[in-house]
Amino acid sequence: MDNVAKPLKKLEVSQVEELLKDSSKVVIVQTAPAVRVSLGEMFSLPIGTKVTGKMITALRKIGFSAVFDTDFGADLTVVEESAEFLKRIKKGGPYPQFNSCCIGWVQLAIRAYQNFFDGLISTVKSPLGCFGAVARKYYAAKKFINPEDLVVVSIVPCILKKNENQLPYNTTDGFFDVDYTWTTKDLANLIMERGIDFNSLEDGEFDDPLGESTGGATIFGRSGGVLEAIIRTCIYLDTGKVFTDDLVFTPSPLSADIKECTITLAGQEIKVCHCGMVGAKLISSLVQQGNCPYHFVEVMACPGGCIMGAGQPMHLPKEGVTPQQVRDMRSSALNDIDHSQEIRVSALNKSLLKVYDAIFDGEFGSKKAEEVLHRRYK
Ligand code: SF4
Repeated sequence: MDNVAKPLKKLEVSQVEELLKDSSKVVIVQTAPAVRVSLGEMFSLPIGTKVTGKMITALRKIGFSAVFDTDFGADLTVVEESAEFLKRIKKGGPYPQFNSCCIGWVQLAIRAYQNFFDGLISTVKSPLGCFGAVARKYYAAKKFINPEDLVVVSIVPCILKKNENQLPYNTTDGFFDVDYTWTTKDLANLIMERGIDFNSLEDGEFDDPLGESTGGATIFGRSGGVLEAIIRTCIYLDTGKVFTDDLVFTPSPLSADIKECTITLAGQEIKVCHCGMVGAKLISSLVQQGNCPYHFVEVMACPGGCIMGAGQPMHLPKEGVTPQQVRDMRSSALNDIDHSQEIRVSALNKSLLKVYDAIFDGEFGSKKAEEVLHRRYK
């Protein structure tokens, strides 16, 4: 495994370590869904081992003031993107709505298709961005922290997220939503350098109030999960019903990279799909020709989604495991977490509802929520 601790400390890790020693700063951390099912692999645990509790304890030992969950941010992304999709259905389009949480996909769409996709790619910030925005707007105020003294660190499976956090549209009140981004491997290397015996750690729990999340948020880490989470919330908002059945996707006749499904929403038959970059390019040309058959398209640049991001532990063929097997094991770990959650619909996250009551006029998709949780791509 290409997981040996690197002797050179990454710049962002050293910078955060300095801030952790500064008593005038409050340094908080959020951890993306995919990290909890891969970090253990850096410590010789089986692929896909769920190490949420040990990861939290390790982060506390490293010195963070509070350990929060990007899954809370994923629930925010889901409720806003669901509200956006239901509004679109009621207006009759334009279609399709594309997800905005995958930076690889969004960067391709902006660069290759420029303004063509304006109005089609969701304007909602990624889970990291939504989390950071609420940490600045809500958590800092609740804890009487000067926004200048709040430092938000995120642990992610994705190298490109380091860039996302420096884009001007990912800001709140003049501050970047996220200040520093470490990958899963960065965190593992620091745990090793600190001499923390990861496998012996007791399980810790996320801090309140930005540590509560639903099953819908957890599956953001794998392909198809964003779409499933959005459908659960759309159905709940549309009918009041809690729908958590696993959706059955079938390969599209257009491409094996596209998996599709048809559902009923707001009294209409809605066709949705998820795909990787091969399918995304095909669908993009169909959109340009005015022939796209889908109402919602989830694109994940990494095959299998964030669980296979470039910041994740790598397994070499000589280990006797294929990328598909790695992907299946991590994906099934996320599904297990989803199935074991008491609440699996993002719109029912109680801490999230408190945030909406406190700062977003109690309504998903409200003007106030839009100001803080959405972005403009220009
Ligand atoms: S799918 Fe890959 S590129 Fe996209 S956000 Fe996840 S890790 Fe990053």
